[in-house]
Amino acid sequence: MSSAVRVRFAPSPTGFLHVGGARTALFNWLFAQRHQGVFVLRIEDTDKSREHENAVRVIYDGLRWLGLEWDEGGDKGGPFDPYFQSERGSIYEKYLKILESKALVYEDQGAVRFRSSHRPVLVDDLVCGRIEFDRSMEPDMTIRRPDGSWIFHFVSVVDDIEMRISHVIRGEDHLTNTSKHVALYQALGVEPPRFAHIPLILNRDGSKMSKRDEGSSISTYMERGYAPEAVRNYLCLLGWSPKDNREKLNIEEVIRLFDLDKVNRRNASFDLDKCNWLNAQYVAHMPISRFRELSGPFIEKAGIQISDEEYLLAVLRIVQEKIKLFKDVPEWIGYFFTEDYEYDAGAIAKTFSGPEIMKRLERLREGYQTLAAWNAGSLESELKRLATEIPCKAAELIHPTRLAVSGRAIGPSLYHMLEVMGKDRVLRRLSRTIERFS
Ligand code: GLU
Repeated sequence: MSSAVRVRFAPSPTGFLHVGGARTALFNWLFAQRHQGVFVLRIEDTDKSREHENAVRVIYDGLRWLGLEWDEGGDKGGPFDPYFQSERGSIYEKYLKILESKALVYEDQGAVRFRSSHRPVLVDDLVCGRIEFDRSMEPDMTIRRPDGSWIFHFVSVVDDIEMRISHVIRGEDHLTNTSKHVALYQALGVEPPRFAHIPLILNRDGSKMSKRDEGSSISTYMERGYAPEAVRNYLCLLGWSPKDNREKLNIEEVIRLFDLDKVNRRNASFDLDKCNWLNAQYVAHMPISRFRELSGPFIEKAGIQISDEEYLLAVLRIVQEKIKLFKDVPEWIGYFFTEDYEYDAGAIAKTFSGPEIMKRLERLREGYQTLAAWNAGSLESELKRLATEIPCKAAELIHPTRLAVSGRAIGPSLYHMLEVMGKDRVLRRLSRTIERFS
């Protein structure tokens, strides 16, 4: 079947890319990848709204963020141009004429209706199995409204015929529509494509996921700075699994293992905690170059000035294990890049209390100034040596030092942080603090 596979994702531009829609797109994309097929993006915009352009952009951005690039349609065009239903009116007219010529449609109060044949329809669904639809009571369906606009069932079938779609992979909410679609194929004398209706995604309590549910919109993941590969991995598991309990799977492997007969029939349960867990796995273990890439937009947006790329990479390396979401990167690294950092007020009260604190910091500064080697190991030994000499607990030096050089009570491992900041910067910051708080 390889070269004949043509699938499509056919969203309506609502201004929102839902997790369910993204998962439908993903399964189509995986199937196309698996069979070296073509993945088409068709925009079902028969109800064109004012915010149309922006709503279409939301779909492009969401799919691209997830790495689900399409081969035809959307802003790419292709051999079956146009791929926007709002621009395909003349094609629908043509197919309407075919039905007219067969006397299968009639006008009723300005609407065009399709004469139901009342014969049963058999759908051999690749996920749901063989289903026979009784159509003996099926009313004639409207395919065009009195205002001239088209009904989804008709234009969807026409487009799938015209675009040579081989497999219709979509949410199970469309399963009952399929008998209507097959009836239209039969009327038009065209062999229907294969159908695969993938399970619905429900909340953990079994309710239907709505727009208001946390995590239901792909834009949330983009804004919070999840790793796209983690979200995509999570979406793979919503209705599909490799059947060996593994959850973190790279996409090449999923493509190799994916097929429609392995899609579950049971509804999938959406679990944001699991998505967060998977995301943390990806973020903690990704190569530093990828970590840098995904941090980039957030660093830029926060206005952090980067002049030394090596320094940035060194900083990112020591904070990587602390980061769960990329939106948090600026907060973790900001003070590395400005001498104008603020001191956390709560931490000042707790950590810089007592007259001996600044004296100790001064002794540490002196010790560090004469240190032969500047690395985490030597910085640690010197601090501990001084603690014994003073004497005080190491923690009584560690906390004030951290606050002095970063302005914060928490951060990456102190000695690694000092190593990365470098001698000049650390000594300067210790002096600044001592001057200010003495
Ligand atoms: N526009 C429809 C939807 O968003 C597409 C259904 C289909 O894939 O056929 O639900």
